[in-house]
Amino acid sequence: MTEQPSRRLLLVHAHPDDESINNGATMARYAAEGAQVTLVTCTLGERGEVIPPGLAHLTGAALGQHRLGELTAAMSALGVDDVRLLGGPGRFADSGMTGLADNDDPACFWQADVDQAAALLLEVIREVRPQVLVTYDPDGGYGHPDHIQTHRVATRAAELAAEAGLGIAKTYWNRVPRPVAEAAFARLADDLPGLPFTAAAGVDDVPGVVEDARITTEIVADGTPYAAAKAAAMRAHATQIDVAEPYFALSNALAQPLFTTEYYELVGAAPAGARERDLFAGIEQAR
Ligand SMILES: [Zn+2]
Repeated sequence: MTEQPSRRLLLVHAHPDDESINNGATMARYAAEGAQVTLVTCTLGERGEVIPPGLAHLTGAALGQHRLGELTAAMSALGVDDVRLLGGPGRFADSGMTGLADNDDPACFWQADVDQAAALLLEVIREVRPQVLVTYDPDGGYGHPDHIQTHRVATRAAELAAEAGLGIAKTYWNRVPRPVAEAAFARLADDLPGLPFTAAAGVDDVPGVVEDARITTEIVADGTPYAAAKAAAMRAHATQIDVAEPYFALSNALAQPLFTTEYYELVGAAPAGARERDLFAGIEQAR
């Protein structure tokens, strides 16, 4: 058996593109440092809206297949070589936005049995033995059914792992501090006339925004190759993201900041003193 890297990070996301937007710089950094970086994506995002008119013909399974290719290209930009679809590609269908009839599709991730889906994730945990898990908060960051379900499945899998003696030392939720978001949107308002976007989103459109006091950890990548890798990874998701650094837009065409410092809340820990600058801080790196 090949020896595993001593630091092992597992990220669990809902759709291709979520990993690059939330954690691209973090993933690039840890991959470059020789850590094991494993991404599990729960759906292929085949109900996403397509931005480029030339690709608008892609829907359903064809879009899912295309987005799998985008995900592969994004991981190559980040230097991450371990990406998996939960239960295999197409096992869980994209549930669509909140309130759509798609949410009732028995094949969709929102309708999946949490324990069954968590058992599939537990198989990955058994193999990878991550010390650190990154996922969304209980609201999925912004209420999308697949993001909420991703939180539930990842959290249940972490419980099952603990029961099996495979305890994950630290679980983080993706966050953006409100003051950081507010300052970035203020800059965006000034910059908007020079951008290829006609309107801006707002702080409330950014997933995971919380007060400063809840932030325990920041991975600072401004001006580093990891920031460049993040932008490249986001560009690889061309059906979903329109990048004009340091901004980007989703299919709603509303400009928002591209954060190259990424923020986290360590679950179950009260923030104390200076923020961590390493997700593995305090972890004994036993094999
Ligand atoms: Zn998503």
